[in-house]
Amino acid sequence: MPANSPISRAVLYVLAAGTIALAVGAVTRAAYGWAFFSAALLAQVVYHVSHLAKLARWLVEPSAGAVPEGKGYWDDLLAQLYRHERGRDWQLRERDRALERFRLAGQALTDGVVILDARNRIQWCNETAERQLGLHFPGDVGQPINHLLREPALQSYLDIADFTQPLALRADRGEDLALQVQIIPYGQNERLMHVKDVTQAERLDRMRRDFVANVSHELRTPLTVLSGFLETVRELKLDPGQRTEYLTLMSEQSRRMERIVEDLLTLSTLETAPRPSDEQVRMRPLLAKLKADAEALSGGQHRIMLAAQGEYDLLGVESELTSAFGNLVSNAIRYTPEGGEVRLVWSADAGGAEFAVEDSGIGIEKEHIPRLTERFYRVDRGRSRETGGTGLGLAIVKHALARHDAALEIESEPGKGSRFRARFPARRVVAAAQLARSA
Ligand code: ADP
Repeated sequence: MPANSPISRAVLYVLAAGTIALAVGAVTRAAYGWAFFSAALLAQVVYHVSHLAKLARWLVEPSAGAVPEGKGYWDDLLAQLYRHERGRDWQLRERDRALERFRLAGQALTDGVVILDARNRIQWCNETAERQLGLHFPGDVGQPINHLLREPALQSYLDIADFTQPLALRADRGEDLALQVQIIPYGQNERLMHVKDVTQAERLDRMRRDFVANVSHELRTPLTVLSGFLETVRELKLDPGQRTEYLTLMSEQSRRMERIVEDLLTLSTLETAPRPSDEQVRMRPLLAKLKADAEALSGGQHRIMLAAQGEYDLLGVESELTSAFGNLVSNAIRYTPEGGEVRLVWSADAGGAEFAVEDSGIGIEKEHIPRLTERFYRVDRGRSRETGGTGLGLAIVKHALARHDAALEIESEPGKGSRFRARFPARRVVAAAQLARSA
């Protein structure tokens, strides 16, 4: 038994007290010896009981910082307890920190994550999942996920429990969301539910499919007409007048296909090619050219006016700006009946610039305006075709302007006319005079 164990210490104490008590009894009276022995034992009991009381008090609310101090043997014992508690405290703090790190990592995920137990009850979820699925943490903890999301598809996904494939879900969270849910079993019968928002990807996929269908349709129509005429010219005996008429119609159709393909190539360049470096685009000559082109296209059927205010130029790519502005001007002419008016307005100052095309044409119903820049979107397909439109003009305008940090604004009133405005921020505007000086 080690010399400083509690039992050896107690035995030593009793032996020492007994020896002294015997001595006291021998020197004085035996009763004094007994009294001394009893007092020594009582002191020992008080010593232990008072320390036990301290320990009991501490155990009600144990914390490393509040471990009581003791005397003698109890001092060693309580110091050991203090060291042990400090170590445990440190371990707990480390564990909390690690847990917090995992929680923050889960929160930082852009996909939704829900942790479920073996009976599909929610244990934890991140904020993305709260938003996507309308869950509330910690309010919904312990609730079976299929009670909160009453989707038959989710119910059977959980029942069948074949989680090799994700499940497609739709959710109405103010906007229609397309979600892809995948359950990943892990650990002791626990499940991680991974929720991916595929709304945007689905929309892009739909747009891509629509686009391919539209292009095919747009090209097939003139191609069908063209091959029909070819057949006729080959099979039938035509007089020279008819022959010329057919050949003219054929060349119109092939010209139409050419325009579609040209516009498609322009769009694809605007979308994918890196933008050439900016140059100072001189606005005065550009405006004059736009007006001349408008007059040529109009063939004298419209009044065309140009108003330019401010000696400023734009910083950008001349070919792209010419294409954007040219499309706006050509639309104004094409959608304005004979005798109407088309105004090109350029106004610029150091705070920004605006190129506007105003016409007194057929105008556009309100509900069409947000869709006009979609590829192949036309209000009146027949009129667009008759006037040589491809349905791609405003899509080109939108992309070309976006590459110049500019926005397109459309105002229109059916029967009265339209105004298309391209607004450029200050950083795209440069004083025209500077060009002369720097040149
Ligand atoms: P399109 O080749 O058919 O003109 P755009 O993309 O240039 O194609 O324009 C899309 C549609 O927007 C047109 O078909 C037409 O219905 C409408 N639109 C464009 N500009 C005007 C305008 N100035 N006035 C009336 N409608 C217009």
